[in-house]
Amino acid sequence: MLRIARGDFERICAQALAEYPHECCGLLVEEKQGGVSTAHACTNVQQQRHEEDPKRYPRDARTAYLINAGEQLRIAEAAEKAGGRVSGCYHSHIDCAAYFSAEDERRTWIFNSQEAGDDPDDPDAMYIVFSVCGEEAGSQRNVQGYKCFAWDGNRYAETGIEIV
Ligand SMILES: [Zn+2]
Repeated sequence: MLRIARGDFERICAQALAEYPHECCGLLVEEKQGGVSTAHACTNVQQQRHEEDPKRYPRDARTAYLINAGEQLRIAEAAEKAGGRVSGCYHSHIDCAAYFSAEDERRTWIFNSQEAGDDPDDPDAMYIVFSVCGEEAGSQRNVQGYKCFAWDGNRYAETGIEIV
């Protein structure tokens, strides 16, 4: 179960809408274990990587996200200095549902700096996926849904979100 402050949840929704039709991303920080998470927006560098090296990065930012590594490090350092920790991350899906894709699972290994197929070294990390639909799907831009996923010992499974 992820607990997140309402103001932070709303800021993620606003970010996801503003960055459409690109996936948005950011980190979740817990000030203390099991506490309420706050959201820290990050730059999705996937588009830039794709444009520089499309062979290595075949996906653009419509279908993938990559958190700026420097931002991730700065946020993690600030969280640890304050006695907290990075508790997970969030990203949006463009014109499709909020599900945990095979690519999302692969990204958790990048996030944890691990080899694909390992158990996560942070089994408590949680991942929120937002579904954003908009102009390109012929609708008004809106957040259609969201789901949170966590490691259950074998795989990433849906868990609850409590907005406080
Ligand atoms: Zn995804």
